[in-house]
Amino acid sequence: MPAAKLVDLNAKYPLTKLRGISTKRAEIFADLNIRNQIDLLFYFPRTYDDWSSLTSISDINQTGIYTFKATVARQPYLNRKGKLSWLRTSVMAERHSIDVTFFNQAWLSKTMRVGQDFIFHGKVEVSGSRRNIVNPSFIKPEESNKLGMLANYSLRKGLNQKLIRQAIEQVIDSGLIQKLSDPVPDFIRQKFNLASLEFAIKNIHQAKNKHELYLARYRLAFDEIFLMRSALEQGKEIGANIKARALVSTKEAGHALNDLRESLDFDLTNSQMQAINSVLRDLREDKPMNRLLQGDVGSGKTMVALFAALYVAKCGGQTMLMAPTSILAEQHYASFKKYLEAYNVHVEILLGSSKARERREIIEKCETGECQILIGTHALLQDDLNFKNLALAITDEQHRFGVRQRAKLGLDPSRYQFLPHRLSMTATPIPRSLALIFFHDLDMTIMRDMPKGRSEVITKLVKSSQIDKVYSELRTELDDGGQAYVICPLIEESESLDLDSAEATYLDLKQRVFPDKQVAILHGRMKAEEKDAIMEAFVAGDIDILVSTTVVEVGVDNQNASVMIVMSAERFGLAQLHQLRGRVGRGDRQSYCYLISDSRTEGAQERLEALVRIRDGFALAEEDLKQRGPGDYLGTRQSGLPAFQFLNIYEDQAIIEQAKFALAELENLDPNEREYWEVKRQAALFERYPELAQGLSL
Ligand code: ADP
Ligand code: MG
Repeated sequence: MPAAKLVDLNAKYPLTKLRGISTKRAEIFADLNIRNQIDLLFYFPRTYDDWSSLTSISDINQTGIYTFKATVARQPYLNRKGKLSWLRTSVMAERHSIDVTFFNQAWLSKTMRVGQDFIFHGKVEVSGSRRNIVNPSFIKPEESNKLGMLANYSLRKGLNQKLIRQAIEQVIDSGLIQKLSDPVPDFIRQKFNLASLEFAIKNIHQAKNKHELYLARYRLAFDEIFLMRSALEQGKEIGANIKARALVSTKEAGHALNDLRESLDFDLTNSQMQAINSVLRDLREDKPMNRLLQGDVGSGKTMVALFAALYVAKCGGQTMLMAPTSILAEQHYASFKKYLEAYNVHVEILLGSSKARERREIIEKCETGECQILIGTHALLQDDLNFKNLALAITDEQHRFGVRQRAKLGLDPSRYQFLPHRLSMTATPIPRSLALIFFHDLDMTIMRDMPKGRSEVITKLVKSSQIDKVYSELRTELDDGGQAYVICPLIEESESLDLDSAEATYLDLKQRVFPDKQVAILHGRMKAEEKDAIMEAFVAGDIDILVSTTVVEVGVDNQNASVMIVMSAERFGLAQLHQLRGRVGRGDRQSYCYLISDSRTEGAQERLEALVRIRDGFALAEEDLKQRGPGDYLGTRQSGLPAFQFLNIYEDQAIIEQAKFALAELENLDPNEREYWEVKRQAALFERYPELAQGLSL
């Protein structure tokens, strides 16, 4: 696909051009990811007030939300009590009246003049023959052209509905909508009765009635899946033209793999064997592998990466392995070195904190091919890193990386004649329904078996008033040689002194509860070296209790740790808690997870109880999806993809099919036409999902 021209939309359509938006306001908008006028058009309402149909007062016989026209019939009367004021009046139409009360809007006594007509909107309470309404919204009859579905937007401090509506109205009136790229050709629109983009954008903000809103939503739902699929197909195309190197098995490779397997002091699980075999099979092909390895926390995914990397090295290729944190990268580095020492494989690590000289040396070793396996963090994405013969790119805990980073890993066709095979590993399962939409070019391997001898982590939900009981159970474990993690949602104290903060908890444990034990603290603001040193000491057993924020969430492996205590557990998501729990129960010791929480809100309670009940990560992911909905699941952090606002992946199968059909039709057009629509789609992606689009234009 031809690269889209990167126009700087922020400079071309600045928010500050709009009436009512100062530079300072523009900054608040920027917080909402609204950086220009186009972003504003794509800032969709959260809810609507239905002002679309007028009800005559005489028809208002039961409590409900109504829009009605009436005349002020009584001189407003103002009451005050302390800070509170309330203004009472009554309005009439067709000899029926409604009592109106405005709280704390004393100034309205000037507006509500007897004999004046208004159109009111709000909840009318009906009891017997009396009707009353509190704090209604209202407009003048002259403004009745504005009647319709009144949009409400998510706000931030410093913004209000009126301000956003007026800003959007200005943009709509300026005609900018006509300049947007509509990626859907007329013949597709006609076939599926889709509204034009212009209609959809205007009416998502200013629909006159429910039907117009429906049409707008339908069209935008179509666009969401249409553009997203298109973007992903584009990623696929990159792979389609370029081949990978087929790694033909050598005798040496075969021997090395067998040796490695025999040298392990455990048997590989069936799942691990199957996964390794699938990966090896793919590596022998010249079609680039794109495989997602899903396996619950502790299922032993690293082994699969290890075997694959050893195979690649023995076939003369290089492997890079990207981990989301330096702690995890260090850990992989240590275990790869340990396991591969006997096979003469050269392993290096590259982190953001690596010294310049070290870095240069490593880069050189990658260029010459001396370095066979390079492990690291985001530092691996730097442009000056080139490999002699990169054959395999592995991402660990792939959900932690954005689409952009994932796409970039070893995938730049301008730099490599061959595409590397790709393996992504994750413990955050992607529900099947989502996977089908997004990862249709992805092969999936699911590891269901857990290594033998793992006992289930006993999970308990505990009130904070019982914390000392938990500590005394912890003491028993520590005396027995175990180690523990204590996880807190914050680093430092907030106003209220409690155990939410790692620092407060650390001091409490060190000074009050366990003065005789080694207690340490670890958090994201520490320097990389400091973190590494502490992790090392913890793994070596020199630290008994590690107090931390969620920096230990993913991947960290200390087989001797047997207790996980999570403070204010309700502050964490289900997947996150499951990951945290997965830090223990990795060795032979019976392990425990204590979720400390006083929260009574329904959602939180449900989540924590699900965790006590359910051990299987896949079942938990489904539960998570049920509780939070797919929109949330697709939020950038989980999946790296923008959330769908209109498309419901469960209910809108028809739309998904239509989008699929449309893309296929466009593929069949003659080359000029096809390219024309490709460019349109690309431009539309830039307008609507700038970050995603930039990530894809490799
Ligand atoms: P994850 O899938 O969460 O990344 P790891 O690869 O970190 O899991 O493995 C967790 C622990 O289990 C590691 O200490 C690893 O050495 C160990 N392990 C891996 N495979 C097996 C196995 N088949 N039997 C016993 N222990 C295993
Ligand atoms: Mg792992």
